[in-house]
Amino acid sequence: MCTMRNQVRQTALLTRLPPRQLHLLRQVGLLADERGLSVYLVGGVVRDLLLKRKNGDLDLTVEGDGIAFARLVADRYGAGLVVFERFATAQLIFQDGLKMDIATTRRESYAQSGALPDVEPASLQEDLYRRDFTINAMAIQLNDAQFGRLIDFYGGELDLLARRIRVLHEGSFQDDPTRIFRAIRFEQRFGFLLERGTGRLLAQAASANLIQQLSGPRLRNEILLLFAERDPVRTIARVARLELFRFLHRRLYYRKNAERAVIAIPKALAWWASRFPGSVIDRPILYLMALAMGSSPLVVAAMIRRLALSREQAKNVTVGGSRIDRALKRLADTKPMRPSQVYRLLVDFSDEALVLLLARQIAMQHIVRLRLLKRYLAAYMKNRSIKTALTGLDLQSMGLKPGPQYKSVLGKLLDECLDGTITTEMEERAFVQKLIGLAD
Ligand code: ATP
Repeated sequence: MCTMRNQVRQTALLTRLPPRQLHLLRQVGLLADERGLSVYLVGGVVRDLLLKRKNGDLDLTVEGDGIAFARLVADRYGAGLVVFERFATAQLIFQDGLKMDIATTRRESYAQSGALPDVEPASLQEDLYRRDFTINAMAIQLNDAQFGRLIDFYGGELDLLARRIRVLHEGSFQDDPTRIFRAIRFEQRFGFLLERGTGRLLAQAASANLIQQLSGPRLRNEILLLFAERDPVRTIARVARLELFRFLHRRLYYRKNAERAVIAIPKALAWWASRFPGSVIDRPILYLMALAMGSSPLVVAAMIRRLALSREQAKNVTVGGSRIDRALKRLADTKPMRPSQVYRLLVDFSDEALVLLLARQIAMQHIVRLRLLKRYLAAYMKNRSIKTALTGLDLQSMGLKPGPQYKSVLGKLLDECLDGTITTEMEERAFVQKLIGLAD
């Protein structure tokens, strides 16, 4: 009777999935039966099913050859397939855009802390044991006779109920220091606590400088994932309390003005999204820009190198510092600025830098200046698309020899257009004629 009730409850877990996914998992389970393989849904998606949270990922694992099974599924459903031999995983993309990862159950060994693991096939139990935390180490069987059976060797369900993050073994952070950041991410996302032993191990791992051994891209990935969380403000404060930002640079501190800006970012983002819905903001980079505020250019440059940021990311993070403060000061000036002056001041700023500028002003709690800045930003965003009717070719046909003065003539012309002193092409031509005349 009890088993029956469990069976019902466990199948019910999967029915929390959207019908399309549920149907597909049933089919995959039947296909595995045909081949005599055991197949499971595994990891974060199982955790989120238990928490009744949405999760778009379908991570499957197969006891046996996962890649061969992925090929079979891809053939059967006409799905696209990408195989990663080194990690014994494959990714499928179905015709309706649905994605599924299929892996081989495996054990992992770490030749060196912070390095990528060596992998070899193993049982499901071992596969679950290599995972980061108990709450991420559960599986749900998909084979028809066991469809929906929850497999929880390490007490993950109990830890979910107790709202705690727990590693599976003492050497976990040593094996993979990215788990330090993952622990904080899940802790903050779910409002859980680190189980006491795990907290101690995390503190030990942090002070043993294991994070230093992570490559730039791996460290960057973890930091940006932290900053991509729904509420990065608390998460950043937590990382700062654990003194982990020193691994980005030993002299990178979470300074008071950076903290104020970080706290104001959600408000700035909300205003920005409501006014300029077409602007796509790279939120994680925006938070990193705020974090870097107040640090010296040398520290910021070294941090950029440590995180191996892309050129565009690096440009953004570099701009985030003193230039924003200088721009703010000018915009807060009591002397009104012409639209062209505002344009020149802001034109090199990315949208992320503009949001940070706004966040800085919000943090200063000066209502009049904030209102003024919002007005400037709204006007600037509108003016940004203004172009002169004349181009370089027109200048040429008007007799101006190609050279560096093209830029300055077109720049002056644009300023007039922005300020509304010139509104027609005829006026543009007259203005240029006058300029050329003056130059002669
Ligand atoms: P999110 O909801 O942020 O995507 P997730 O738990 O789904 O979280 P993923 O990074 O997608 O996380 O990884 C999927 C699963 O792979 C995890 O649930 C965990 O079981 C395992 N895993 C991922 N990264 C690690 C790691 N560094 N060490 C051990 N296991 C990991």
